[in-house]
Amino acid sequence: MKSTSDGPRNQAVVAMTEPTNPNLVDEQRLRSLIDQLSDQMCQAVDGRFDFAVRIEVQDETIEKLQMLINFVLDAARRSLTEIEAKAHALEAKTLTLSSVNMKLEREITERLAAEAELLRSERELVEMTDELVRQKAQLVDEISQRMGAEATARDDAMHDSLTGLSNRAVLLEQIESCLHRTKREKGFFFALLYLDFDRFKLVNDSLGHEVGDKLLISIADRLQGSLRAGDTTSRVDQELDPENDNLAVRLGGDEFVILLDGIKNVADASLVADRLQKLLEAPHKIGSHEVTSTASIGIVTSDFGYNSADEMLRDADTAMYSAKAAGKAQHKVFDKTMHEQAINRLQLEIDLRTALQKEQFRLLYQPIVELETGQIIGFEALIRWEHPTRGLISPIDFIPVAEETGLIVPIGGWVLLEATQQLKKWQTQFPRKKPLSMNVNISKRQLIQPDLVNTIQNVLRSFDIPAYTLKLEVTESAIMSDMEQLTPILQSLRSLGLHLCIDDFGTGHSSLSCLHMFAIDILKIDRYFLETMGEGREYAAVMQAIVTLAHNLGMDVVAEGVETADQVALLQSLGTDHAQGYFFARPIKPEEIEALLQKSSSLAMSAA
Ligand code: C2E
Ligand code: MG
Ligand code: MG
Repeated sequence: MKSTSDGPRNQAVVAMTEPTNPNLVDEQRLRSLIDQLSDQMCQAVDGRFDFAVRIEVQDETIEKLQMLINFVLDAARRSLTEIEAKAHALEAKTLTLSSVNMKLEREITERLAAEAELLRSERELVEMTDELVRQKAQLVDEISQRMGAEATARDDAMHDSLTGLSNRAVLLEQIESCLHRTKREKGFFFALLYLDFDRFKLVNDSLGHEVGDKLLISIADRLQGSLRAGDTTSRVDQELDPENDNLAVRLGGDEFVILLDGIKNVADASLVADRLQKLLEAPHKIGSHEVTSTASIGIVTSDFGYNSADEMLRDADTAMYSAKAAGKAQHKVFDKTMHEQAINRLQLEIDLRTALQKEQFRLLYQPIVELETGQIIGFEALIRWEHPTRGLISPIDFIPVAEETGLIVPIGGWVLLEATQQLKKWQTQFPRKKPLSMNVNISKRQLIQPDLVNTIQNVLRSFDIPAYTLKLEVTESAIMSDMEQLTPILQSLRSLGLHLCIDDFGTGHSSLSCLHMFAIDILKIDRYFLETMGEGREYAAVMQAIVTLAHNLGMDVVAEGVETADQVALLQSLGTDHAQGYFFARPIKPEEIEALLQKSSSLAMSAA
């Protein structure tokens, strides 16, 4: 069938197989027609409007039918359009929905991802927080440990480890602060008490360092107790201002300092020193020992207008030495005379440094004579200082300062070189079967220089002299001050082949029974013995004992300070080997020695 949808409406044609009576449209046919139409309508609705039917019916009927068809078609078209519109709308809605859906899906996915991320971040945050808490705990631990260590270090830096008293650093700080106060506060006054224990070394040497240490602790306890408020039995400043801020300090060794602030005058300080001395006099019970040790105290007050703690402490030390020199177990106040002496000493120290640079030192030589023959066997080199304004200065006036300041090391080095060089010259100029020898004084400070043995070995080598012709003199007091430390040094010196002399024997508190302990070749008996020998037979007996013992130990004996023919005779009768003294010759210049040696190698043995 052909589609004729564009044909005129009233000419709508419906194909009839067999037209009979056009007016008679039987119902059955109509129904079938309608059915067909329905089918066609359905086809139209389906969009497949494809038919061509010619129906020739009565106009009215056709018209009605046409109308019906039109109506149906219209309805169908409308519904189709509607359906299409609806479909479109539906499609659009579906599209919108799907886009919304997609968007939603995306949002949900994103949100889920965000949530997962959030969860992860949260987890991380928790972990980080835990880590932070852990780190913080560790840090707190470290800080407290470090603070603890620092506090201990600070404490160590402020306290003396043996006694627990404050140390020098604290004292210096406290003095500085008191000095400031004297400048700010009119009438503020304070004092230092510098304590040194008499014969403390003896305790160490005889009872051992352990007892010595315990004695120091006991002393420290007494000192601390004497300053503690409320401790009225031992408190030494009981009548003084109870609000004062006193301090007990151990400087080192057996040296202690008490800082008294808030006292009124020097009399108060002396009063405290008196009480301290009484308090310290009582014996200390140390294990099975009862040890007594008195203190020498130097007092210095803020009266002198000090500018530094060091200056003040130095003067307190000077006063303490003066107390010791005055007979120990005493106290002395630093005064103007001491002040002047201190200034002179300071100047001396400055001048000594210049003297070294400007070569102001000279050596004099004093002959040493064989008592049997009067022959000069050698010399002692004795230093002098040619001061540009003060003239010739005796070693007694500058050697102690040189020792304290350490300047003795370069000075002593110069002496050694100069004397050995001189000896070499004389050994060549005046050859002997037994070569001339040279005695050189060596101070303790030089002895403990680690390179001393090497230096001496080099000197011996470079001047090429027989080692035994160099004789080093070490004072008895130097050896006694630290036998433990010095004995191995003396032994290694001796192993170089040179000879060692113990100088000023009899002044250094050693006993005869100690003699065998020294690795010594020559004993030089101090002139004190000769001076006192004339006073009684006992001294001669002591001299005799010393000479005999020394000989038994294989030592030679030299008598120092021989001034008279009587002394010479006595020494000869005692069997003394050698002598040195004004009787034979004073210390003289090298050219005078040469003149002497040229004239005769022997010196007169009896008064002219
Ligand atoms: P010392 O080593 O005991 O020297 C002996 C001292 O006694 C010398 O004093 C000497 O001049 C003096 N003397 C010698 N015979 C007599 C005498 O018959 N009568 C009297 N009254 N005195 C006599 P000097 O030269 O003043 O030396 C004093 C001290 O200085 C020396 O005592 C020594 O300990 C030290 N000394 C000297 N030169 C040096 C040196 O180069 N280095 C070191 N470290 N100390 C030295
Ligand atoms: Mg000497
Ligand atoms: Mg001497």
